[in-house]
Amino acid sequence: MDKVLLLRHGEIHLKGKNKSYFESLLIAAIRRQLKGLPFTLTHKRSRYILSDYPPDAETALIARLKKVFGLHSFSPAYITASTLTAIQEKALEICPASGTFRVKTNRADKRFPINSMELNRYLGEKLLGTHKALKVDLENPDFTVHVDIREDGGSFVYAQTIPGAGGMPIGSAGRGLLLLSGGIDSPVAGYMMAKRGMTVDGLHFHSYPYTGEMAKQKVVKLAAILSGYTGGMQLICLPFAKIQEEIHRYADPSYMITLLRCCMMEAAELVAKRRGASALINGESLGQVASQTIESINVTQAFVKNLPVFRPVIGFDKQEIIEIAHKIGTYQTSILPYEDCCTVFLPDNPVTRPRLENVLNERAKIPGLDALILEAVNNLELLKIV
Ligand code: ATP
Ligand code: MG
Repeated sequence: MDKVLLLRHGEIHLKGKNKSYFESLLIAAIRRQLKGLPFTLTHKRSRYILSDYPPDAETALIARLKKVFGLHSFSPAYITASTLTAIQEKALEICPASGTFRVKTNRADKRFPINSMELNRYLGEKLLGTHKALKVDLENPDFTVHVDIREDGGSFVYAQTIPGAGGMPIGSAGRGLLLLSGGIDSPVAGYMMAKRGMTVDGLHFHSYPYTGEMAKQKVVKLAAILSGYTGGMQLICLPFAKIQEEIHRYADPSYMITLLRCCMMEAAELVAKRRGASALINGESLGQVASQTIESINVTQAFVKNLPVFRPVIGFDKQEIIEIAHKIGTYQTSILPYEDCCTVFLPDNPVTRPRLENVLNERAKIPGLDALILEAVNNLELLKIV
């Protein structure tokens, strides 16, 4: 087969001495993502080539490659002998019959008889001669026919460049614990940190029996969609009903949501420490709801002692978050109408500008809360999502 997929990495090219480490993570991610499909992967000097796959596997390979963080783009290409006739034949084969185009040659092999400019012109004329509806546009063409004449005697010819997921390979930026609700924002937040190379585990608080099995399955589904990008993740489920009951029984109703959030942060830090995660991640967006005002965020933040809390969607409008949710495939699941633990015992008037002092006073009214949080953490349920 003379058809291959040329893969290009993104930001890895900025890495100096550590480049090969990032490259090996990227290769591992590609292999993980393409598991079960037939292919050979070769890597030579910042170039990754997928070959030896049957033509009907190309679409599946491309669909999966789009989920690999660290890949900037990829191109279906022909690999051919470095002769004028062979290159010309492939250029004619891949070039659409109409539209504007240009030819761009990269001649790494200086033994090739004519230089890049000459080959561009030669191929351009051949293409124009064959397809009468084609026009040359060197500035802003509809497509570019690329010819890459390599030093090993072979050449690549391609016209299509498909954007990859971008970012950095999974595993290159430590481990984070994502507070994963069933909503729209937190899966997007997890996606964004994973895109930067972070291995992401999910942490979900449920209020069984107030919340049901369907609500949990929805979160499992969201984790499964995310795991399509990360190559697997762990989902940790913590029972929070008892804590909610106690908050409900003892605290001022207007502080219920704030206190619940504070307890979530405390529990999340304990879980993160036990699992070796070095950051928490949540889906807060500034001012989106009462519990996400700057005052609320400052209060909940105060309950995390030693970890950074990443909020990658903090500056996004809801609509912008929704667009990403659509793109990554979580939106339709996120909008399924199952109850979340935050909708259990919902107060009428939650405080929008809580003061830490008052929150601490309210928290102190709840007997044995530390022990309850510890108990929830000790009763965690671990699900491996593949
Ligand atoms: P989302 O769409 O992520 O649910 P939201 O707008 O509904 O966001 P909130 O309910 O205020 O926001 O939650 C803010 C953040 O707190 C969520 O993005 C998530 O990270 C975390 N969170 C909320 N509820 C839970 C839960 N039951 N389990 C785990 N994390 C949660
Ligand atoms: Mg929510």
